[in-house]
Amino acid sequence: MVYGSWLMAVGPPHVVVGRSAAFAYHRRVVVFPEPYPGEPLTVSATLHRTYIMCPQQALGRLLGEYPKETVASFKGSLAHRLFARHLVKGPIGEDDVAGVCREEIGAGLNAKLSSIGINKPSQLAPVLSEVGDLYQRFRKFPTDGFRSAEVALESEPVAGVTLRGSVDAVFDDPDYGTRLIDWKTGTHLDDAPVQLAFYAMAWAFEKGDVPGRAEAVSVKTGERITIEPSPSSAAETAAQVADMVGELRKTFESGEDLERTAGPHCAWCPLLDDCSEGAAAVKVTRS
Ligand code: SF4
Repeated sequence: MVYGSWLMAVGPPHVVVGRSAAFAYHRRVVVFPEPYPGEPLTVSATLHRTYIMCPQQALGRLLGEYPKETVASFKGSLAHRLFARHLVKGPIGEDDVAGVCREEIGAGLNAKLSSIGINKPSQLAPVLSEVGDLYQRFRKFPTDGFRSAEVALESEPVAGVTLRGSVDAVFDDPDYGTRLIDWKTGTHLDDAPVQLAFYAMAWAFEKGDVPGRAEAVSVKTGERITIEPSPSSAAETAAQVADMVGELRKTFESGEDLERTAGPHCAWCPLLDDCSEGAAAVKVTRS
């Protein structure tokens, strides 16, 4: 696997990975290698990123073991609803933010809210206040060239492999053509290049066009990570995903576990209770 070295090449505050000159690709074919045969799999950016972080945790996801919803992930989901609304319908007045948050919760986030145990207005108020602060930061980002928000991607580049993703926002860039943006509500951008590369590849398979740029932007800090995808980098990501699909299918056949790669991420892993490697890593992290 070559993923580790790729991740290590990234650092704050604004990193560009890939080609440096503006260049638009049109209708170039990206080949998805035929993976080891097996049952149909749907691959998301999250599954791909998780596999790179720890293959066994990715296998757990496919078997229905997901990390628990947290207050932070709920705030992220709500903030993303506000960002999309701002881009599509225009700015939200400062006095209206809390009301719009409640509308968005009612429209699709009630289940997430109950799962984190928030059931009183007094518990919700600080959450809305923090999301409101994030939104005020978001308002300062330029929106020139905005094309669309929350763009769902789905393609089946080879039989039995579905690539699925949702891009937060798409912009028309005078220098780079299509520019994809992934808004981050936290400060952690280390694994952003892997996610961005997945979105760029998924975009290429669905739209037949490699985006000129893909960016992850921390709304909290303004830090930005940028990749400049190309047909060859999209093909490289496709090869990594095909390899992952093959390994997962072989594991389904054999019933064996995959490699466990322990680290600070184990603290949020749904398999932690039954993983000695993860328990050891969490102990070290907390000591
Ligand atoms: S606890 Fe850590 S090592 Fe164990 S499966 Fe989860 S992420 Fe992997």
